[in-house]
Amino acid sequence: MPCWDGDAGALIVDPDPEERADYERRLAEQSQAREAASSFSGPVVTANGEPVRLMINVTGLAELRDMDPSKVDGIGLMRTEFLFQGREKLPTEEEQYRIYRQMAEWAAGKPVTIRTLDAGGDKPIAELTEPGDLNPFLGVRGVRLSLKRLDVFRLQLRALARAAVAGNLKVMIPMVTVPEELDRSRELFGLAIDELRGEGYEAAMPPLGMMVEVPAAALAIEDFNADFYSIGSNDLIQYVMAASRDEPQLADLARPSRVVFNLIGHVVDHANRRGREASLCGDLAGDPQQVASLLDQGLRSFSVAPGALGPVRAAIARYPGKAA
Ligand code: PEP
Ligand code: MG
Repeated sequence: MPCWDGDAGALIVDPDPEERADYERRLAEQSQAREAASSFSGPVVTANGEPVRLMINVTGLAELRDMDPSKVDGIGLMRTEFLFQGREKLPTEEEQYRIYRQMAEWAAGKPVTIRTLDAGGDKPIAELTEPGDLNPFLGVRGVRLSLKRLDVFRLQLRALARAAVAGNLKVMIPMVTVPEELDRSRELFGLAIDELRGEGYEAAMPPLGMMVEVPAAALAIEDFNADFYSIGSNDLIQYVMAASRDEPQLADLARPSRVVFNLIGHVVDHANRRGREASLCGDLAGDPQQVASLLDQGLRSFSVAPGALGPVRAAIARYPGKAA
């Protein structure tokens, strides 16, 4: 049976079992989100009164349809690769612009953090990712691919720069490993803006941040000229532990360990010293049992799947402060 993907504007005529399972999961998350969003209100605070920012991770406009923006602190991660998957042609600048702009309008002034294309790894995209990549998680993915496919990156940066005029947009770059990747992305963003203005479009440079999900970047975080940091625990854990995030037999290894929490604390400390925001948008943020350990590391900004909002909010409210 075909699947209609309203987010990507695509009809999948003959979805394989994996695609079908992915759509079913996304539908379930969307309905959980609707339930969760209607069940609470008011600021998110710890038991000792410290405010915590709680945002959502989304893949498209569908999750936002029945969600009230006043119930969240914005969007902490929009995974744009879902706009590119399961379709014959890559999305145009105009299509992307309309989606990013609608997200910014939905948020009504709250931050909307859009991640540039993180293709590759577990998210292959026809015509874009390298089919012969023997080890895709360590291969040409995220910003590595964007910097090779400048034609695709340029259109995305143009769409983002145009949408940045319409609201509180932030942009983050995935899989940054060395400072030059972020610097080059910033430079290309500037060029896209100059080009747009030369063509008579309104365009703005949003804050440019980075995902912190590669151990080399987490360890040397002070070397990166990022406006904000978003920790990607899914990849960070698998790279630190050398254990695939998708291998059930290694689930015990691919868990957050003291080493991972120390790295998270290192990034948060650096962000605090620089007066920049550090948030965490990997699955760890949405696990109520890990919330206290993350708060202990000084983290005060979480971005979670919409279905996790209620349980994470409750776990934050139970947190008494760090034990002396
Ligand atoms: C992460 O790695 O934690 C993350 C949020 O990115 P993704 O799961 O999309 O790789
Ligand atoms: Mg990641």
